[in-house]
Amino acid sequence: MGSGPAGLGTAFHLNEREPNLSVLILDRSSMSTGGLRNDCKMNFTYPVGFPEEYWDRVRANKALKEVKRFLNPPILPTRNLEIYKKRSEKLGVELLAIKQSHLGTDGGIILIGELMESLKTRGIETSLGEEMVDIEERKHLIVTNKREIGYKKLVLAPGRQGFNFLQSMMSKLGVSYIDNVIDVGIRIETREQYYPIVRDYYDPKFLFPDKVRTFCTNSGRAYVVKERYKGSTGRDYYSVNGHAFSGNVEAPGEKNGLVNFALLKRVRFTEPLASGNEYAEMLGQMAMVMGGSRPIMQRVGDFRLGKRSKIDQFNGDLYDFEPSLRDCTPGDISLAIPAKVLRGIWKSLKLLDTIIPGVMHPSTIMYYPEIKRYANKPSFIDDYFQAKQDMYLIGDGAGTSRGITAAWASGIRAARGILNER
Ligand SMILES: Cc1cc2nc3c(=O)[nH]c(=O)nc-3n(C[C@H](O)[C@H](O)[C@H](O)COP(=O)(O)OP(=O)(O)OC[C@H]3O[C@@H](n4cnc5c(N)ncnc54)[C@H](O)[C@@H]3O)c2cc1C
Repeated sequence: MGSGPAGLGTAFHLNEREPNLSVLILDRSSMSTGGLRNDCKMNFTYPVGFPEEYWDRVRANKALKEVKRFLNPPILPTRNLEIYKKRSEKLGVELLAIKQSHLGTDGGIILIGELMESLKTRGIETSLGEEMVDIEERKHLIVTNKREIGYKKLVLAPGRQGFNFLQSMMSKLGVSYIDNVIDVGIRIETREQYYPIVRDYYDPKFLFPDKVRTFCTNSGRAYVVKERYKGSTGRDYYSVNGHAFSGNVEAPGEKNGLVNFALLKRVRFTEPLASGNEYAEMLGQMAMVMGGSRPIMQRVGDFRLGKRSKIDQFNGDLYDFEPSLRDCTPGDISLAIPAKVLRGIWKSLKLLDTIIPGVMHPSTIMYYPEIKRYANKPSFIDDYFQAKQDMYLIGDGAGTSRGITAAWASGIRAARGILNER
């Protein structure tokens, strides 16, 4: 279940090794609603995207070779990295140099079309708009919103949006799990001229002290978006995110000369072992309370003066660009962000401004919240992400990946497990 990169990784690998196997991919929505459809930045350097508790370099690199064959990524050039690296090191900051491809939201949709065509040619069945709602483990069948389907092997790859569903299935089936880690932070938006490194390195990965890092940088035709998440208590919340159009194909997306990227801090709970998911929801809901059911945005200039932002400050002379996400409430992010998170992020932003002078221009916008829930960590019974006999949990929702390429790789790994058992 799930037609994201994790599910696709399993389906294609099984089909290549045993073309006669009958494979059905279900998705409640359209094909691949995660990163393949949104921005489609693909990282091909370990450990980016690979949780190190499950992946070592050798294993990840072996899988990445196969992932490349399907995704056929044009790797982006980088320039002047040594200069940025030297500046960073002096401040105790690490700049990771990685191989990356960026198809953009428009290019990603084309890639999805090609992958769908390939599934069809290979005889792999897909059923879109069909939602899985339950599992009858003893009968070896799943229940969807349309029918019951029997299975020999079941692979669940519901992505981050399916986080709650996966938790409820694990609880029902007695699969123990912990979810003690989340990333929480802000999304920065500024003019490209205030963050010109993007002309040399499309998605620069800076690692700051205190477990803060830059994440998912977009530029050129770049937009901040908001995603709705279902709260377990029935109260939904938004997390912001970002994407860009490639401009290579005829598609929407005006060149707006803006850059956006996330600054995220990792929060890991030890004792008592709190649920990262619950914590994430509460932070999200707190932001909704502050923002009148919308995310909050604040200009760096206002933040520095200890003032909230107001709507008229988004049009004036000094604040010379308009937010790409308009459906957001000007306010004071410091009222909603936990102090330790805010301290780490603000310090990192200052370090970044020393490495790339300009990013803290008063007009720069900080959007909150951006929350990543990664760590549904089931207890697996083997090395192939089998959580119960004949049931595999993979991809971002199961914490075996944190990105498109690693999600595909975790799909390959589950497929290998299935083939071994046969
Ligand atoms: C807006 C956005 C932009 C992103 N951009 C990037 C990027 O540029 N690069 C990157 O590496 N990562 C990106 N990511 C993260 C990326 O989505 C994941 O790393 C990757 O897609 C995970 O793959 P997956 O197969 O685990 O899940 P997904 O790709 O999320 O796929 C899961 C699929 O399962 C389906 N599903 C869920 N529940 C059910 C159910 N009950 N029944 C049936 N179907 C169900 C969903 O509809 C979905 O299509 C982005 C994520 C988002 C949300």
